[in-house]
Amino acid sequence: MTVDPTTDARSVIVLVDFDGTITEQDIGIELLERFSTTDWRRIEERFDAGEVSIEQNMQEQFSNVPQDAPELIEYAGTVASIRPGWDEFVRFASDTGLKLAVVSGGLDFYVSALLPPADPPLDVHCLRAEYTPEGWKVWSPPGEEVGGEPTEYKQAIVRRYRREYEQVWFIGNGVSDRGAAQVADRVWAVEPLLAYCRQLGIPATPFETFHDVRADVESLLRRSVPASD
Ligand SMILES: [Mg+2]
Repeated sequence: MTVDPTTDARSVIVLVDFDGTITEQDIGIELLERFSTTDWRRIEERFDAGEVSIEQNMQEQFSNVPQDAPELIEYAGTVASIRPGWDEFVRFASDTGLKLAVVSGGLDFYVSALLPPADPPLDVHCLRAEYTPEGWKVWSPPGEEVGGEPTEYKQAIVRRYRREYEQVWFIGNGVSDRGAAQVADRVWAVEPLLAYCRQLGIPATPFETFHDVRADVESLLRRSVPASD
C-alpha cells in the first residue's frame, strides 16, 4: 500500500539555522578565531553549559573583537561556503508555497552579507549588532528578547510561528538549536545537534546537503497543492 503525502505546503513553515547549517562553517566562530583578543572559548563554554543566553554570549565574545563590520565581512567572505543545494531548496519552497525563514543566533551584519539573495526575500531572525566607539554592541530584535536560558531564543520563535502555521519544521546543527528541536514538529539535524536529539529521543533526520532535505520535504508534502493560488 502506498502512503500518500498529506501535508499542505502552506500549513508548514521551515525554520533554518544559519551558522553551520546554511553555511558549512560557523561564521561567528571563524571571526572569533581570527580576530578575538581574548580566550573566547571560555565564554563559549559558559554558553554550552547553559549558564548565559546567546545574546550575552555574543555580546561578551564580540566586545573583544576590535575590528568593524567591513573588515569582518571581508574575512567572512573568504572562509564561508554555502551548503550545497540551498538555492535549489529556496526555489523549491517558493515554487510550492512552502514558507522558509532563517533563525540565527549570529549577528545581522554577517548573516545579511553572506545569505544568498532570495525572491521573495526570506524572513531573517538574528541578533542585531552595531560597531560603536566603545566596540561591538549586541542586542535582540524588539519582541525577541531572550531570558537566561540559552535555548530560549529559537524555541520562542518556533512557538510563535506555531500560532500561524499548523506545523513548524526545524533544520539546525548546534547548541542554540536544542530548544527549537525540542518543540518543532520535524527536525533535520547535523552534528552536534543530531547526537543531542538522539540522546533525548527526539526524532531527527540526518542530512548532508539541502538536496537531501528537499527530497525529504518533497516526499512529505501533498503534491496537488498549486504553486500560485
Ligand atoms: Mg548553527
